[in-house]
Amino acid sequence: MKKYVYAFLALVLAPAAAADTVNYQLRISNAAQHTAEVSARFPASAKADPIVQLPNWRTGRYEILPLANGLRHVVAKTADGKPVPIRKTDKATWQLALPAGVPYTVSYELYANELGLRTRHIDDSHAYLNASAVFVYSPEFRTAPVIVKLEVPKDWQSRSGMPQGNCGDCFTADDYDVLTDSPIETGIHRFYKTMVDGKPIELVIWGDGNHDGEAMLKDLAAISKNTNALFGSTPYARYLYIVHATDGVRGATEHLNSTVIQTERWSFQPRSEYLKFARTAAHEFFHTWNVKAYRPAEMVPYDYQKENHTNLLWIAEGHTSYFENLITLRAGVQDEKQYLGDVSSTLAAYLRTPGRFEQSANESSFDEWIQPDGDRHANASVSIYPKGEMIGLAMDLMLRKESGGKKSLADVHRGLWQKHKVVQGGFTEADVLALLQQVSGRSWQDFWSRYVIGTEELPVLALLKDAGVEFVADKKPDDGKPFYAWGLSVAPGEDGAFAKVTAVEKDGPAWKAGITTGDTLIAVNGNRLSAKNFAARSQQFGAGALSVDYFRRDAKVSTTLMPKTQDGAGMKLQFTDKPTAAQLALRKAWLGN
Ligand SMILES: [Zn+2]
Repeated sequence: MKKYVYAFLALVLAPAAAADTVNYQLRISNAAQHTAEVSARFPASAKADPIVQLPNWRTGRYEILPLANGLRHVVAKTADGKPVPIRKTDKATWQLALPAGVPYTVSYELYANELGLRTRHIDDSHAYLNASAVFVYSPEFRTAPVIVKLEVPKDWQSRSGMPQGNCGDCFTADDYDVLTDSPIETGIHRFYKTMVDGKPIELVIWGDGNHDGEAMLKDLAAISKNTNALFGSTPYARYLYIVHATDGVRGATEHLNSTVIQTERWSFQPRSEYLKFARTAAHEFFHTWNVKAYRPAEMVPYDYQKENHTNLLWIAEGHTSYFENLITLRAGVQDEKQYLGDVSSTLAAYLRTPGRFEQSANESSFDEWIQPDGDRHANASVSIYPKGEMIGLAMDLMLRKESGGKKSLADVHRGLWQKHKVVQGGFTEADVLALLQQVSGRSWQDFWSRYVIGTEELPVLALLKDAGVEFVADKKPDDGKPFYAWGLSVAPGEDGAFAKVTAVEKDGPAWKAGITTGDTLIAVNGNRLSAKNFAARSQQFGAGALSVDYFRRDAKVSTTLMPKTQDGAGMKLQFTDKPTAAQLALRKAWLGN
């Protein structure tokens, strides 16, 4: 019955739609089993045998994904219901056998049971729909206006960055690009709304937890206001924060005028945990400009079917990470100590990454699509996030120091926003170098050669010192002894006993002793080792040649390991006790007070 009502509504809607509009309909067919019926009605093609495609990745996640694996029973028909032969020509492309000039509809069953990649998820409480993983498109009609109509349970509310259409659960978009970058969250939610600088800022929360929506909205408003001020103008008319309070997944994705943030439902308290959410929100909101409004020229327009390589993802992601923390501070959501704590943990982890000397920021950006995992990543790669954040920190402190606090990295991003919008074609490396030169009055070619194309150690510690911030040993042993490091990480073994090696640091003590990831440590100097006692035992046995036994594929091996000594288990940033006037001036320019 519902189906017929639905078909009738579509007919009623039809006259409002221009002839070249693409009409999508999605009916949740079995929420508990995560399925929907989807249809896409396309205008008449100028060519015979048109194709439709589903993207092979979704924006914001630079990785080829098997999105087309969720489609079954793909069929095509003409507008008057005649079946049209359709065949698959690659993993995400279908070709119709149809003469030119005939409008057509492609329908299929969609399986949507993926949450953590933020692509498509349907259950009995909500649906999260990113069009890249839900709606096929026609390359011919990619720029045609789009109407999306959903058929969802009566008590559900549908939200998106897209404008509402002329029915309850309808949305409209200027084209498929807007549709793919405007995910839909429909379901049972809490909804909050406020105005910032004359524009609506909305928050929709799916899932129970220890969140306080009103308090969150206040912080999101402060973050939004601060970011608006940084750029001077906004690329959005209305902005929607979508929050998934759930379990087992964590992460967030930026979109055109919305974001989706996933976090553990009980992670909104205490304050230290909540600040992770706040910084993530600031990160995603900053992306509304940096990536969505301006981005590397190689990604304009996006090619949805294959990798979009660029050397500049470290600006897209890393600079955004740099600003997320600074804006959260300047918006008054966190204080200086909390700000420094976050820089501290990023810097400490970055300086423990041997891969920073193996791969440059440019190379890491280009290869983001194929970065390895685990300790191979740490030993042979550098992430665009911390690397870009540390380059951002170095650039910001240099610009502020050299200009006596008058210029900063924000001036460079304002320039990108003013001169290199997506509609203007995006930006190149030469554009960034030209802006840096314009802001600072000097060439940045040497900086680029050493730290962006090259892998020289960034001068962040010296620059932080100039701002009255020191990097000192943290978690020092309380017996006055040094800290003994083996250069590896462990987790409980399969049966809970012994210590399974999860990562080995390149050129560290364990690396030199021949231990590798996957080995299971069993004893040091004849005494049992476990994941639980590893930290204590490695400290108790101290320096010198240690006899270490381990299993490799269940066969016992013995080796000799020479621990290295260091001041503490980690390092942290702290404000200098008696800063000079110059240090205070730079700190004030940087942190704003
Ligand atoms: Zn990001």
